[in-house]
Amino acid sequence: MSVLDLRRLTGVARQQALRLILIGPPGAGKGTQAAVLKDRYALAHISTGDMLREEVRRQSPLGLQAKTLMAAGRLVPDALILDMMAQRLQQPDVSRGFLLDGFPRSRAQAEALVSRLAAHNQPLHSVVQLDLQDEEIVRRLCLRRSCPACGRVYHLQSNAPIAAGYCDADGSALVHREDDNEATIRTRLAVFHEQTEPVIEFFRSVGLLQRVDASLPIEHVEHLIERLVQGALTKTSPLRTSRRLTAGKTRSLGRAVPR
Ligand SMILES: [Zn+2]
Repeated sequence: MSVLDLRRLTGVARQQALRLILIGPPGAGKGTQAAVLKDRYALAHISTGDMLREEVRRQSPLGLQAKTLMAAGRLVPDALILDMMAQRLQQPDVSRGFLLDGFPRSRAQAEALVSRLAAHNQPLHSVVQLDLQDEEIVRRLCLRRSCPACGRVYHLQSNAPIAAGYCDADGSALVHREDDNEATIRTRLAVFHEQTEPVIEFFRSVGLLQRVDASLPIEHVEHLIERLVQGALTKTSPLRTSRRLTAGKTRSLGRAVPR
């Protein structure tokens, strides 16, 4: 029996707080994969996009400021996002592990996050990069429709609803998000490359980055991410420690301390 099988049987993976970042361009399937991971590991799913849309809906001062920028496909400034994120990371659900989606989007945000988590003794396990070509992203997003009630996302070619124009789950009329037209998508991609690639480079330089080919079928991408996550958790798990001990290794166990 492999260590991974044993971990699944004993539920070790579920007891250990997983701290993960999903990073990738709009349309690479972050939302889909985030939902899977959130359920599997009981994570707090922290999406700056969702948080900002909620502020816009409530018409808070932050929301009104963000609305103008987002409608133009621009990024909301670091200071504003960092304030919002600092508040979110103080919520009690975060201690069971979290998944950050859409954050950090600049090297400054990434550095601020890593220092903050280190100061709270909650280091990240992994940064998973969903990698996808721009042309494929444009093709996907122009045909994307979403449900305003439950957030479910459809694609007119690859994942169409059963009744055209309506959500399978609750029958709500599907919407084509204002920022899912080609010109706005191209602006968002240009902004993404300019701002986020330094973030990817930063996480690569600190050894946390793990790349996944997001052009593969959804289930395949899901499987690849699961393997990466299990690998990252195993590095610091009690079972890994005991396996090393039974293997008779004398090297330092480092931070692999049983909880
Ligand atoms: Zn729905």
